[in-house]
Formats: sequence, structure tokens, C-alpha cells
Amino acid sequence: MSQLLSKKIIAWYQKHKRSLPWRTHRNAKDRDYKVLISEFMLQQTKVSTVIPYFNKFYKKFPNISSLAKARITSVLKQWEGLGYYRRARNLHLTSKILNKDFDSSLPADINQLKNLPGIGDYTASAIMAIAKNKSFIGIDGNVKRVLSRIFAIQQNKDFIKNIEKKIITMKVSKNCSDLMQGIMEIGALLCSPKKPDCQKCPIQKYCKFSFRPNAEIIPSRKIKEKYFYAFFIEKKNQILFSYNKSFNFLKEMINLPLVEIEKNHSLTKITKTLFDKFEIKNTPLKKINYNISNFKMIITIVYLKNNLKFNNQNFFWIDKKKIKQKILSVLTKKLIEASN
Ligand code: SF4
Repeated sequence: MSQLLSKKIIAWYQKHKRSLPWRTHRNAKDRDYKVLISEFMLQQTKVSTVIPYFNKFYKKFPNISSLAKARITSVLKQWEGLGYYRRARNLHLTSKILNKDFDSSLPADINQLKNLPGIGDYTASAIMAIAKNKSFIGIDGNVKRVLSRIFAIQQNKDFIKNIEKKIITMKVSKNCSDLMQGIMEIGALLCSPKKPDCQKCPIQKYCKFSFRPNAEIIPSRKIKEKYFYAFFIEKKNQILFSYNKSFNFLKEMINLPLVEIEKNHSLTKITKTLFDKFEIKNTPLKKINYNISNFKMIITIVYLKNNLKFNNQNFFWIDKKKIKQKILSVLTKKLIEASN
């Protein structure tokens, strides 16, 4: 049955796939490069958000060697606003290795792929399937949901192992690329977490979920709330910034000094963790919310007087007129705008 199931998915995908910029290519090298950029950009980010960034990035760096030769500041500038900036740095490093050692293509060996910066198990399997048409399926949230429904796989400690077993039975010798993308496309267009559109689904006949009206719907991840303080401090025409080393989504970017807080916190105690000497201004605190892919940040902006003392080497002043020239995350821009 599984071979037939794969054929149905592939046939449906070929007819109904969305037209996405990384799905068309001029030749094998162009295909490798587009799949590589899209897989990096799509980590933790929705397709609709990625499309304009992908187009802009590809226009600026049309192939692996142009990306490899670019300065990291120019790469980060194209990535500005997409978040999780570590991805841009890793993509840049990977492009240098591909340019030097792999003739500006992707290796067709999964272990060589996994040795490249920023490529883990999922991305390596997805690249092997999509770019190299090899018999692999990367298991992300969408793929998990679709396959667990088709085969009625219970969410227990063997969940992933049982999905992997089913994947082995589905693999085809040709069109592995369309099979992987077809499963992802069904997950994106039809098999939504809350209301799967089984009537339109090409594999309804084979899907155990669609025969069980009371079947357990795999719960979508609950969005967690996390609390932060951001500190806004002005000195003449300058603002205090920090070079972020703690938060993944801002890794190695600059931001207002930011600290995560617990529910029962003391503002003075928390502020002491960053500054040796400070005075809190009377300015009323401002709150902003900001959504990251898997959590919601609730940030309180605290205003401090500029007579502070710190010996944190990650803190530095930036002239207000020069801020626009810096590479800033959307969060940082939002915080500066809200603080003024
Ligand atoms: S039949 Fe319904 S539950 Fe099964 S894969 Fe299709 S959309 Fe998802």
C-alpha cells in the first residue's frame, strides 16, 4: 500500500504544488543553491515570510561563489529582519566550504552535508531528498503530523522511531524529491493541525485519521510566554547597546541590554545583574509584545539615568545618527521606536 500512497502524493504534488521561488532553477548548481538558501531560511520561519527575503537574497548573491566572496556584513544586511541571525553566518560559512571544496555544489553524501555549518539531521535529509533526489525524508513538524495521521501513529516514546519505520516502506526509487515536497505540501495546504481538509486530500482513502471522526488531533504546540526587561539609557546623543550572546534568536546581534525575568522578580535585583551602579528614571515603564516562532516575548522597557557604571564588555554606546547604518533585528528596531 505504501508505494501506492507515495505515487498518489507525488501525482497530487506535481499538479497542485505552489509556485515558490526555490522550486524553479536553471541547472543543477542553481537548484542546489536555491534549496540550500531556502532550507536555511525556512528553519523556524513561515514560507510567506521567507519568500521576499529569498528573492532579495538571491538577487544580491545569485550563486554560491558570490555568497562565499561576500562580506558577512553584507550577508547580514540582506538577512536583516528575518531573525535567527546565526543561520546567516552559518550559511555564509557553508558557502565558503562549498565554493572551495565542492565546486560550488552540494555534496550528495549525507555525512558530508552534516559536517557543514548549520546543517543538522533534518536539513541534511531534506537536502538529500529535495536537491539530490535521494531516498530520504526529513522529519519536521509538518511531516510528523501528516505521517502520524496517515498511519495512526500514537504519540509515545517510540513516536519518531515508528514514523521512521513507516517512511522506509514509503520510499520510492524515483521522484524522492517530489515525495518529500508532496508530504510537506499536504501538511501546509490540507492537513492543518486543527482542521484537516480531508475531503480535498489525495490520500484520504489510505489515511487512518480520516476514518476516525473522533481521532486524537495532535495538539499544536502551545505558544509559551516569556518575560524580559529591556533597558533604555540615553547619554547626550547616544544610546547604550549590548552585543547579544545569550539569546539564540538574536545571536551575535546588537540590541538594547535585555534580560529574561521570572514572574516574581524584583526590578532592582535584576538590574543589578547587569549594572554595578544605576538609577531608575521616573518615566513610566512601557510594555511591548513580540512573537518569536515558538514563544511570545513580553518585554518591559525600563528607563535608567545615564550615571551608571558597568564593566560588562558587551555594552557600548552608539551615536543616534549612526544607528541606521547598523544591522538591526526587527525586535531591536521595535524596542528603539517604542522607547522614544
Ligand atoms: S486525509 Fe486528512 S488527516 Fe489524512 S493526511 Fe489527508 S488531510 Fe491529513
